[in-house]
Amino acid sequence: MSKIISDDIDHVLLSEEQIETRCKELAAAIEKDYEDRHITPIVVGMLKGSVPFMAELIKYFRHPIEIDFISVSSYQGTESVGDVKIDKDMDLSSKGKNVLIVEDIVDTGRTLREVKKLFYNKGAEDVKIVALLDKPERRVVDIQADYIGFTIPNEFVVGYGLDYNQRYRNLPYIGVLKPEVYA
Ligand code: 5GP
Repeated sequence: MSKIISDDIDHVLLSEEQIETRCKELAAAIEKDYEDRHITPIVVGMLKGSVPFMAELIKYFRHPIEIDFISVSSYQGTESVGDVKIDKDMDLSSKGKNVLIVEDIVDTGRTLREVKKLFYNKGAEDVKIVALLDKPERRVVDIQADYIGFTIPNEFVVGYGLDYNQRYRNLPYIGVLKPEVYA
């Protein structure tokens, strides 16, 4: 019989239920902040890792939002500089808008620092970040997500959008791969 992806998981770090519950809490907190300011945000998912998280999160907003996606990658060989290149830009304009960036995980923080700058350069009024996961031990630049689902230890995780060599994004939970998968 052919192998299924869950066979490669050593242990589950966050279950589907835990993620769902946390998404409800995050949506309520985020919505309250925007509602207090009478704002309709553009919720912008960072492809591809944010897709399952974004889909879960936006179900719980009761007020109007707009959604869009952006895909960025680091310039090759300039990891320490941290510049990003836009592989797929948004369809909507962010000029004068309140942007909520949806990210799978904040690791070194380089990507988000650059993306945040990018939105301000495009004339966004305000840029906030919601990240499903935060790995503060790995941070090399001073950036904080405004809303965080879970703070996790310095471990490489997959599932719920997160990949290893483009696989495992479709796992419905966050897990750690068996060491032999990397061998
Ligand atoms: P940063 O610029 O914060 O270092 O990069 C964040 C990106 O690195 C994430 O969007 C994600 O694609 C990738 N990344 C960081 N940590 C992990 C991890 O534990 N698992 C996976 N699959 N990707 C990660």
